[in-house]
Amino acid sequence: MSNTHAFATLPLSPAFLRNLENMGYQAMTDIQAQSLPPILAGRDLIAQAKTGSGKTAAFGIGILHKLNPSYFAIQGLVLCPTRELADQVADSIRKLARFTSNIKVLTLCGGSPMAPQIASLEHGAHIVVGTPGRMLDHVGRGSVNLSSVQTLVLDEADRMVDMGFYDEITAVVRACPSRRQTLMFSATYPDNIRKASSMFLRDPVEVKVEAIH
Ligand code: ADP
Ligand code: MG
Repeated sequence: MSNTHAFATLPLSPAFLRNLENMGYQAMTDIQAQSLPPILAGRDLIAQAKTGSGKTAAFGIGILHKLNPSYFAIQGLVLCPTRELADQVADSIRKLARFTSNIKVLTLCGGSPMAPQIASLEHGAHIVVGTPGRMLDHVGRGSVNLSSVQTLVLDEADRMVDMGFYDEITAVVRACPSRRQTLMFSATYPDNIRKASSMFLRDPVEVKVEAIH
């Protein structure tokens, strides 16, 4: 383990670091070591790295670092291509958030009935993880308020665009404040992703990791 990959080099609280240790995270993966310093400094970022490289913790730590638990509004929004991925991401963020109490993470995906989702939204959440179509549905109905989002994550952006979600993503992004941090994660970086990044991100840091750590 090299020192440059120690989580302790990051400006995280002792409780946050202790929880990472409890999770068995002894050192940052390469994508985390490259992306977390600019993420924690508040920069927009596009990161290209293969599956299994630890991208979820990179953006999860970024969202949680900035989040104010005593302000009960949606401060972090993650868009994922599928319900399965959204459930996994929400689960990971809940584990990362164990250093502090009372952080509520809600998933909003298609294929689930609307009424319970709307009821959950009325109860509130700090972080929402959802699929683009269902998120846009909530935006259109006014059942979700994205005006407090400070971190917006587009996870598996290439897959979301390949699945035809570009217009839904654009509409959901427009419902977020223009003053926000935007993080985009993708396994590949084709032209349409380059275009999406220029639409949604501001002066992004670009990070690329070839091999799995
Ligand atoms: P990706 O989104 O890049 O495909 P994930 O974020 O799902 O990858 O992470 C893959 C696995 O690696 C998960 O089981 C996760 O808990 C684990 N992991 C992530 N970061 C670390 C780390 N720093 N140390 C140990 N395991 C990690
Ligand atoms: Mg992932």
